[in-house]
Amino acid sequence: MNANNNEASALRGESRLTGCSSDEEPGAETMLIPQIETPDQLVSNRNAEFMRRNFPLATVDLWNDWKWQLRNSITGIEGLRKIMRLSEKEIMALNNLKGRLPLRITPYYASLIHNTKPSHPLRRIVVPVVEELLQSPEEKPDPLHEQSSSPVKGIVHRYPDRVLFTVTQVCSAYCRYCTRSHSVGKLDKLGKNDFEKAFEYIRNHKEVRDVLISGGDPLTMSDEMLDYILRNIREIPHVEMIRIGTRVPVVLPQRITDKLIATLRKYHPLFISLHFSHPDEITKECADACNKLADGGFPLGSQTVLLKGINDNVETMKELFHKLLMIRVRPYYLYQCDLIPGSSHFRTSVRKGLEIIKGLRGFTSGYAIPQYVVDAPGGGGKIPLLPDYVVEHTKDKIVLRNYKGIVCEYPET
Ligand code: SF4
Repeated sequence: MNANNNEASALRGESRLTGCSSDEEPGAETMLIPQIETPDQLVSNRNAEFMRRNFPLATVDLWNDWKWQLRNSITGIEGLRKIMRLSEKEIMALNNLKGRLPLRITPYYASLIHNTKPSHPLRRIVVPVVEELLQSPEEKPDPLHEQSSSPVKGIVHRYPDRVLFTVTQVCSAYCRYCTRSHSVGKLDKLGKNDFEKAFEYIRNHKEVRDVLISGGDPLTMSDEMLDYILRNIREIPHVEMIRIGTRVPVVLPQRITDKLIATLRKYHPLFISLHFSHPDEITKECADACNKLADGGFPLGSQTVLLKGINDNVETMKELFHKLLMIRVRPYYLYQCDLIPGSSHFRTSVRKGLEIIKGLRGFTSGYAIPQYVVDAPGGGGKIPLLPDYVVEHTKDKIVLRNYKGIVCEYPET
């Protein structure tokens, strides 16, 4: 379905939200309020221009409505053709996505990539290419073995004191390098019974003090569903902290509404783990969304996957991490790209990741340097990596090399 057809369907109330986890979404009514002006404070000039061209019937209010954004997401080749000239490699991939990670791009994120070249970093994050269809021997559908660490549906219990709770398989935009590409985007919804069993599991495991709610993207769910999930987890006495993993402020900043903030605020301490890949993702809209979350009192961290040709150099990473700090988001993890099927065009060497960390440490604020980790294939968990700063380590001393290459000694006592 192309962008304009999407728009027309939404106005006819016929829109379908493939795989949407929001209970409010399917068949939701939309109201068209004629509006000629597009005030800058609501829609940036970039978005206003994109909206006029591709969604001529949309109003500013509709553009800023996260449910409209979801209903009008680009989910197929025709929609994409309206906003960019597709390469042969992209066409081939788009025509062969059946059974694989689907395509979904919100109109907002589409406004960042329309009329770009195939090599554009943000475009590569969401538009598949033919390399994605090729699987090399070391690649596995579930490289972190999450399925075998899942005692009940939705729960992954690998580390001693914390669990991952995948509450939905839906995202507002799908990243082509997604670690959970084997499960996200599939219509495998948790039912009420599944939720109750998952709460029961956490309740029965007193060692669990930290619950990471992830997916898919939990913030594609309705406020009411989030309230239900958070309330049940917060009522468990031994759960100390709750985290939500989301990319919504990056791909769907309209979702960060006052009502959402009010819902989440009831469940502090609540940490929010964001996922940024490139400095160009930090737009005014995204910054506003993150500032709103920070004002709501949620500590914000960001995870970034190291991606070939997208962010695999010191300058891009430094710019990203500096911009994140400016919007009160602390860079948290830099991940080596997981060995998922069709990821070879995204993967760099581990040496490259170490080079980047070496190029940051000492040259910028410690707050701007995330921990570089390899999530061990086979379910071994996250393993931190550092450039080699140790020259020699004996029982009497450790000899170290600093960021300028100067060697110093520290006694072992
Ligand atoms: S937002 Fe996260 S879960 Fe969704 S596709 Fe991207 S990496 Fe995967």
